[in-house]
Amino acid sequence: MRFYRIVRAVNRVYSLAVLWLYIAAFVVAVALMFMYPIGTIALVWAGLVGIVLVLVAGKLLALLQRAVARRALARGRCPNCTAALDGEAPTDPELRRCDACGSVFLPTGAEESEPSRAGTAPAP
Ligand SMILES: [Zn+2]
Repeated sequence: MRFYRIVRAVNRVYSLAVLWLYIAAFVVAVALMFMYPIGTIALVWAGLVGIVLVLVAGKLLALLQRAVARRALARGRCPNCTAALDGEAPTDPELRRCDACGSVFLPTGAEESEPSRAGTAPAP
């Protein structure tokens, strides 16, 4: 699933990219404060409106990633490396674990951040 890997990579860098965009806009706004105050005001408003768009886009990206993963899981394939998923995770039958790459997926399509939960903290 090449598409899944692209979406996942975009999701991983998204937050940091937005943070750096806002830092750059802040630096520009400070520089404009003395030369062109209207530009500073416009940037502040663009930033405030942009927060809503950035949050919505982040949620949509996460939804897209889970939907693509669910489609691959329904075909019995690992969304990450396309290997066949035979068994279940030994710790939890709800989870699907890929033996080839170690990815663990929830039924929702969400990917567990830890490659394996075995041997870590016990479930509450
Ligand atoms: Zn895999």
